[in-house]
Amino acid sequence: MRRDRKAKILATLGPASSTPEKIRQLALAGADVFRLNFSHGLQEDKKPLVEAIRALERELGRPFGILMDLQGPKLRVGRIEGGAVELTAGQFFRLDLDQAAGDATRAPLPHKEIFAAIKSGDELLIDDGKLRLRVERATPESADCVVLVGGRLSDRKGVNVPGAVLPISPLTEKDRSDLAYGLGLGVDWVALSFVQRPEDVAEARRLIGGRAALLSKIEKPAAIEHLAELVDLSDGIMVARGDLGVEMPLETVPRWQKELVRACRLAGKPVVVATQMLESMIGSPAPTRAEVSDVATAIYDGADAVMLSAESAAGRYPVEAVTTMSRIIAATERDPLYPVVVHALRPPLESTAPDAISGAAAQVAATIKAALIISYTTSGSTALRAARERPDAPILVLTAVQATARRLAILWGAHCVISEDIQSFREMAEKAGHIALAEGLAKSGDKIVITAGVPFGTPGSTNVLRIERVP
Ligand code: PEP
Repeated sequence: MRRDRKAKILATLGPASSTPEKIRQLALAGADVFRLNFSHGLQEDKKPLVEAIRALERELGRPFGILMDLQGPKLRVGRIEGGAVELTAGQFFRLDLDQAAGDATRAPLPHKEIFAAIKSGDELLIDDGKLRLRVERATPESADCVVLVGGRLSDRKGVNVPGAVLPISPLTEKDRSDLAYGLGLGVDWVALSFVQRPEDVAEARRLIGGRAALLSKIEKPAAIEHLAELVDLSDGIMVARGDLGVEMPLETVPRWQKELVRACRLAGKPVVVATQMLESMIGSPAPTRAEVSDVATAIYDGADAVMLSAESAAGRYPVEAVTTMSRIIAATERDPLYPVVVHALRPPLESTAPDAISGAAAQVAATIKAALIISYTTSGSTALRAARERPDAPILVLTAVQATARRLAILWGAHCVISEDIQSFREMAEKAGHIALAEGLAKSGDKIVITAGVPFGTPGSTNVLRIERVP
């Protein structure tokens, strides 16, 4: 199952893609990581999906990543008398803790944390930003607002407070229960919603306890302010453009996408660009030109992976959406300008042995036109450093650790194979050559560049670079 591209595809599973056969079709079409969205469905619905993916790994002989996406807190207005009310720009409107149903003058907002954090001048966005209110006066129980953009306010609509850091943990009781359940199923990645502060990530990390890698979803202005620390504390980042486009001016989303991708490349951590990438394919077998261009832009930006949400979870064309995404990525990567653009953003090497070896491997492979870079890794960190170089040659990641292979399914350029630990230089070369052949990544006689660490099998010991020929 050789992919003809380096960037990866995350496909969200849902009603349109929950049978083992559909999951298999998505994998064959190009899905590298499957996303289980815990905002929808029951915990028990996720178990058969994980079982189907693991059965597929056995059948196809390759690792897949499984990402569980936690819902996070949902802030909503309460009930409105009659179900809805029309708000007009310029009118006053109060939000408060009173449980009584709302009317044309006020509505319940049962979140005291919001009133504790907002101040006059802050904006409150309702229903994905369709309605905008400006706070004129805030107390611990209420906010008197003026309506900036009016419209229909109906029951239980979502509320965003972009100007404030809310004293709310990103992990609700439901999230904690979902997390325990997902970790029990053996997911590889946990995506954390509603991240505002570095402490939020630290708390999730404590709960995960090394059983999965942590992907922080960047969707709030407060998270962008702490970006460097969040990247540092996380194993990867998701550019969650859905919420980001509500919390930040929509026209700034492309800029943040570029900045987040750049920050992750600098750190050598995977970055996923998400949401509405092929939105029209929910109902149509072909995407719009603008969507094709959007996926290609994420690839030119240097993203590790691009994600499908409703397109693969609930749309009419889940398999076609994956195929389309795969074709766009492959075509973009074939553009002679692509390596030029991606290398222009190449971050400087750090003064460590793994970086020296990874940088040299990319350069040697380009000079001798090697078919492959082969990275022996235990924790996966050498593969991360190799991918940070965005080498022209694909990276064959050989690891004895199944969890490492599955986690690295998200990583740009990484083709992961589980293989037993090596004990000697001879074994290192032989195994690399045979697996490269068996995986269809190289032909007999091709040059390959191998990186490994001596003593063999010791995490963090990368110190060897060797040129070999495939037997
Ligand atoms: C997003 O906001 O873009 C996102 C991926 O998060 P959600 O789970 O809310 O879709």
